[in-house]
Amino acid sequence: MTSPNDLSSFWMPFTANRAFKENPKFFASADGIYYRTPEGREVMDGTSGLWCCNVGHNNPRIVAAIQAQAARLDYAPPFQLAHEAAFELSARLAAMAPEGFSQVFYGNSGSEAVDTALKIALGYHRVRGEGSRTRLIGRERGYHGVGFGGTSVGGIVGNRRMFGHLLAGVDHIRHTYQPELGRFIDGMPAQGAELADDLQRLVNLHDASTIAAVIVEPIACSTGVLVPPVGYLERLREITSRYGILLIFDEVITAFGRVGAPFAAERFGVTPDIITFAKGVTNGSVPMGGALVRSDIYEAIVSATPKGGIEFAHGYTYSAHPLACAAALATLDVYEEDGLFDRVRALEPYWAAKLHSLKGCPHVADLRNFGLIGAIELESRDGAPGARGTDFFQRCFERDLLVRNTGDIIALSPPFIVEPAQIDHIMDVASQVLGEMA
Ligand code: PLP
Repeated sequence: MTSPNDLSSFWMPFTANRAFKENPKFFASADGIYYRTPEGREVMDGTSGLWCCNVGHNNPRIVAAIQAQAARLDYAPPFQLAHEAAFELSARLAAMAPEGFSQVFYGNSGSEAVDTALKIALGYHRVRGEGSRTRLIGRERGYHGVGFGGTSVGGIVGNRRMFGHLLAGVDHIRHTYQPELGRFIDGMPAQGAELADDLQRLVNLHDASTIAAVIVEPIACSTGVLVPPVGYLERLREITSRYGILLIFDEVITAFGRVGAPFAAERFGVTPDIITFAKGVTNGSVPMGGALVRSDIYEAIVSATPKGGIEFAHGYTYSAHPLACAAALATLDVYEEDGLFDRVRALEPYWAAKLHSLKGCPHVADLRNFGLIGAIELESRDGAPGARGTDFFQRCFERDLLVRNTGDIIALSPPFIVEPAQIDHIMDVASQVLGEMA
């Protein structure tokens, strides 16, 4: 197996294209917790692909389900027509969701899930005669994908600055990054619930009658793993409920076991109005995303249109694609049959202890964790933010370990099948690399 010679035409997403093409990295196959390069090197996957391959790679039950579905029914139009697996999957997802959630609307990615959720929020208020509620509130440092909706409510400046004004009428509450209140915290910070009161500031500024929804990631992962302070999500729920504002949890990463429960909403004991999901629903094998919606929101929207009319003018050619549904049903089976959410809970203390054993290693400014998620925040090099993180990523890769860096923060999120000895290996490599880095 060889790498292609001509790398010129593929404009790679979120990639330093020119640097990659000087020093390309290819994967050719994968199995379990390992990728294999075209040269035959086995690279341990410390990130579950992009936070999505939760049960490891090429799980035979998922592969077989996709193959069988492709041979049976490759595609069915989802507008005014359907196929059975879409209903079966929806019923299973609704059963896994918090009480009161009964509906699933499908897209093909987290970005589409987010844009769908934002549109549902706008539609819900409008059909109830509260059409003035058009303002969408995100959070600084949030990541909600790359659609115009998700980019607008997102709070990572580098993802926004090239794209002009984005959606009108969007605002952001402040982020929860607060190293001054404590570093090296295992799990949820004890302080900081009052950061949620920043929403009250926006209510005072804009008036609740203009605000449709607030969207947050329960754990802000892409910005460097910010675990919510104890009581913070409860406070957001309290304020949104008080003012009739919908609360959307973007669970594209946190759903399906990453925090040892079907949804972070369950683990944190806070129920939003809409939950977005993607990634782990199909174990990353076939693109799929969606929004799980509370029954009364669905009822409000569909009952506003006379029977026979299309109630919600939204959807994708590939909504509930048969291959994605088959992959998702098989993935849910694997989670269940192999008890993988419980496994995450069982591994969590070990994971935390090993991660925090890196305290005191050179350049380590902070360590954060929750579920099977970890972050190593590195001190930035003078005048070169991000350089140390990229160096760390590169050195780990040379040692056959895949990690992910956002600037100088390293994110770790191995597949749930990771063994304690493999966790040891991840942290050993990290510690060696830290020791040799300038
Ligand atoms: N929302 C969150 C919380 C995410 O972490 C991501 C991707 O990492 C997205 C949305 C976007 O998902 P996608 O890349 O599938 O569009």
